[in-house]
Amino acid sequence: MSIAENLLSIKKTLPNGVTLVAVSKTKPMSDLQEAYDAGQRIFGENKIQEMSEKQALLPKDIEWHMIGHVQTNKVRQMAEYVSMIHGVDSLKLLEEIDKQAAKHDRVIDCLLQMHIAEEETKFGLDVSELMALLSSEKLTTLSHICIKGLMGMATFTEDKIQIEKEFKHLKNIFDTAKSSTTSNCQMAILSMGMSGDYELAIACGSNMVRIGSSIFGTR
Ligand SMILES: *Cc1c(COP(=O)(O)O)cnc(C)c1O
Repeated sequence: MSIAENLLSIKKTLPNGVTLVAVSKTKPMSDLQEAYDAGQRIFGENKIQEMSEKQALLPKDIEWHMIGHVQTNKVRQMAEYVSMIHGVDSLKLLEEIDKQAAKHDRVIDCLLQMHIAEEETKFGLDVSELMALLSSEKLTTLSHICIKGLMGMATFTEDKIQIEKEFKHLKNIFDTAKSSTTSNCQMAILSMGMSGDYELAIACGSNMVRIGSSIFGTR
């Protein structure tokens, strides 16, 4: 099947209110253009350099989502155009995003990445770190970022019960965190689910899915 056909068949299965981020990392410009021509406007990349190269050449109405781990010293390179940063897992990184966004007179939407998987290697906050961040005095001073929700990745396993347990856990954290609404923190987005597990993620309460290989083919 073509990229356009894959895209449309996935879109058909998504309930209203679930946003699709087409994960185009490692894929050539022509693949992104094909998805764009089929109506897709939100693309996810995990390397800032690669995202910036694509952003410079593709249509300007694309919303670029950074879904990978972000190094503080690279925020500057995407601050002018990035639409949402999914992998924020420290106050220090939020401060840097705020600083760089201010230079462009922008407010950058961020998701806080939660650690829900069993693997030690995955980035993210635990619940107590999340609560500490959300209640920090410093956060109230950042006027060029807006925390829009949470993001998480389940353990890389075939065990659906395990994945479901982790997704439900993240949904619970999200529901708790929602109550702490401030001018720069409006929890509305729960970004969870990839090609292999997005249907389960949606059933567990996700409203933003990040799908790569089911649209563009294996990497
Ligand atoms: C690559 C990636 C995805 C998409 O993975 P697929 O299995 O290809 O759908 C989603 N989220 C993150 C954070 C990724 O790095």
